[in-house]
Amino acid sequence: CGIVGYVGAGSAAEVIVAGLKRLEYRGYDSAGVAVVTGQPADGAPGPRRIATAKKAGKIANLVELLDAEPLPKDGVGIGHTRWATHGVPNDRNAHPHLSYDGRVAVVHNGIIENFAALRAELQAAGIEPVSDTDTEVVAHLLAQQLADGQQLAAAMRTVCNRLAGAFTLVAIDRDDPEVVVGARRNSPLVVGVGDGANYLGSDVAAFIEHTREAIELGQDQVVEIRADRVDVTGFDGRPAEVRRYHVDWDLSA
Ligand code: GLU
Repeated sequence: CGIVGYVGAGSAAEVIVAGLKRLEYRGYDSAGVAVVTGQPADGAPGPRRIATAKKAGKIANLVELLDAEPLPKDGVGIGHTRWATHGVPNDRNAHPHLSYDGRVAVVHNGIIENFAALRAELQAAGIEPVSDTDTEVVAHLLAQQLADGQQLAAAMRTVCNRLAGAFTLVAIDRDDPEVVVGARRNSPLVVGVGDGANYLGSDVAAFIEHTREAIELGQDQVVEIRADRVDVTGFDGRPAEVRRYHVDWDLSA
């Protein structure tokens, strides 16, 4: 339902939760956030990982969880407020969803209409889904492409070309801790262009507190944001022209 992505020098988790609150007006049943971090899980030396926190119910429930178990303050992350279409609203079905190898986290608005066939294909390859969502297949498919040596944006193009339906997708890669990648078909995605930070949002409310410079993603396009650049391509891999605009919005409204 609502999507936020962030790359910058700030705490991604904090920026994202604030953005999710701004998107609350859309209605939702669950909320979650994921960040890429080099910080080990329990103070022991460990590998880089994706840390997630997600909770059914109000954003206040997520905030309570984050207060008890704070996420690392790393600067790359994604967040979501869910309006369930496939799978009941519970903690497990809340987004972000992780891939089988823990390398990818993904959030999604819309419906993957051919998810059942994709799920069967993954199960045949020994990958058992842990949620009841249509979304989770995307995390696993992306991870398979990354394991094949593709980078996240290329993996997103490959996977999107296999999906039917309406979707906004935003993903992070544990092993590429400086990028967030988004994609859209029949569902909106907007880039917020900041100063030393860039944002993704299902609408401009997600980042309006930070920047009013925006790029609206076109149909069947993939965007890769880093702290200091934004690259847009079509699902066919061709560089796309981007149109930047200024958001003229009264924040007090
Ligand atoms: N179809 C997905 C789900 O049920 C996404 C729903 C949404 O747009 O929030 O989890």
